[in-house]
Amino acid sequence: MSPPYANLNDSDAHHEAKTFKDLSLLRLMWPFVKPQWGWMLLSLFLLPLVSGSQVLLPVIVKKAIDGPISAGQLDGLAVWVVGFGGLLLVHYALRFIQMRVAQHTGQRVVLALRTHLFDHLQRLSVSFFHATPVGKLVTRVSSDVENVSEMFASGGVEILIDVAMIVGILSAMAVMNPLLALVMIALLPVVLASMEFFRRRSRHAYNQMRVQLAEINTMLQESLTGIDVIQLLNRQDYNESVFDGLNRDYFNTNVRSVVYDCAFSASIEWYAYTAMLAIIAVYTALQFGLINYDLAALSGPHVVTMGSLVAFIQYVQMLFLPLENISDKFTIIQSGLASIEKIHELLAVAPDIQSPTHPVGIPARLTGAITFDHVVFGYDPDVPVLKDLNLVIEPGQSVGFVGATGAGKSTIIRLLSRQYDPQSGRVCVDGHSVAEYDLKALRRQIVVIEQDPFLFSRTVEENITLSQPVPESQDPEHHRRLRDVVRRVRLLERIERLENGFETVLGERGRNLSSGERQLLVFARALWHDPAILVLDEATASIDPATEALVQAALKEAITGRTALMIAHRLSTIQQVDTLVVLQDGQVAETGPPAELLETGQQYKAYHEAHFS
Ligand code: ADP
Repeated sequence: MSPPYANLNDSDAHHEAKTFKDLSLLRLMWPFVKPQWGWMLLSLFLLPLVSGSQVLLPVIVKKAIDGPISAGQLDGLAVWVVGFGGLLLVHYALRFIQMRVAQHTGQRVVLALRTHLFDHLQRLSVSFFHATPVGKLVTRVSSDVENVSEMFASGGVEILIDVAMIVGILSAMAVMNPLLALVMIALLPVVLASMEFFRRRSRHAYNQMRVQLAEINTMLQESLTGIDVIQLLNRQDYNESVFDGLNRDYFNTNVRSVVYDCAFSASIEWYAYTAMLAIIAVYTALQFGLINYDLAALSGPHVVTMGSLVAFIQYVQMLFLPLENISDKFTIIQSGLASIEKIHELLAVAPDIQSPTHPVGIPARLTGAITFDHVVFGYDPDVPVLKDLNLVIEPGQSVGFVGATGAGKSTIIRLLSRQYDPQSGRVCVDGHSVAEYDLKALRRQIVVIEQDPFLFSRTVEENITLSQPVPESQDPEHHRRLRDVVRRVRLLERIERLENGFETVLGERGRNLSSGERQLLVFARALWHDPAILVLDEATASIDPATEALVQAALKEAITGRTALMIAHRLSTIQQVDTLVVLQDGQVAETGPPAELLETGQQYKAYHEAHFS
């Protein structure tokens, strides 16, 4: 069944190295960006104003130096000082608004994207989750969405600010003094080449760090969830040495990346000072007439003044920051685009089990008549698990399924609750194929109790009703019913002994209850939902005889008045069913009441003897 999801399980290699060619991926985000387009436009409109106001600052300095300061007129200086302060204020105000708008847009886009992804995941078929590691999906909803957020909030817009700044600064320089601007431009390729050199190495180290961190997290998670086994088998020392190795590798790569980052920043500073020195040198040469006439003419009609020298030095300082930022932002955009592609692949997966467009009406309560009619099914269509399975279950009957591990017992249940569809044949409930009913309506009438029942880290009440808790004062009838179902599975006393009764929050997966109590609680859940069909994958974990008796009594209570299908792992627990079905090799080998089968059924007799001998 893997082919449809093969891409998702691939290594991430084919997602790496996005370039600006891949900007078309952005259109995939349009549905999420569209509601924010007004904010986006505002942010784009503010961009040239933010950059422009900053580029103008050195011009004011130049005017002040060449004007009132050189002439020694203090009166005239005030206007420039006020102008400088005012422009600075305007610049930071614009910058604040622009950043605020960009962040707002980014966060809104991500809010919508994350909700959409979660809703989508909730609707995908079980087959998808069987084929895709959970960790991968968690990454999609958390870090990939975060990458997209960063791309919208900082990367995308800020790279435009940086480009606008660089263009603005170089233009201002060219207008002020083309010769000095040329000196700067001549230095740029060297600066860019060395930036790229360090960036490449730093990015490589960074990618390696991500992989190593994922390994550390996986190991940590495994070690914590499997702590029982680790302690019982005395694997602590071995585990520590493995963890130590991973941790050290991560440390070394981290150190390497820091060295590259420092070298990168230092080299930028070095170039900034070199550029300033070069400009001062050319300025001095011009002052002393050391530069030949043609070149000197390049510095334009303006005389090279002290004011323009100071302005140039400011521009050089201003120029290196966006240059340094651009490559960071480029990385943000690259990983944002890669994440968009991965998220899109996930969003493109359609649930393979869907409700029909025109479902047949489902009665308020099905009678629970079930037939399997020539059913053929395999998780991989070429390897059938059920081969021409035929079975008729009467309404209200309790049926136990027996068979070797892998015989297909759980698969039968998955077909009945339509987690998978058979390749051929029909699974019918009340005379209609399960595929003809609305999926939600069908599943409301079938409750499946898994072998390892899942309890949520929420209150006892929520674990039974699977919906929002209702205060007793608001609906006394709700609470009367709740107590009733819990009494029927003989759990009331135990729950009332809990710290907060029905409002007690269960630990992760119900850790504050014993395994027997957890089983009783899921029986209460089944009774609460009162389905027409109850399916039970019997827990294999052994419990003490006293609890076993309680579970048996609760089980009897739970299956009364409905069709019940039980996968039996312990033959002792299914002596009370109406019919047993012995499965072998994907087909029904024998069927009949337990006592009868014991007399006539070859397979069952063999099982029985093996089990009780
Ligand atoms: P049983 O419940 O009788 O032990 P199952 O119905 O779980 O058996 O499994 C029947 C066969 O289908 C086994 O060979 C098992 O390996 C295979 N199988 C079960 N679940 C999956 C799955 N999600 N993907 C692929 N194969 C599966």
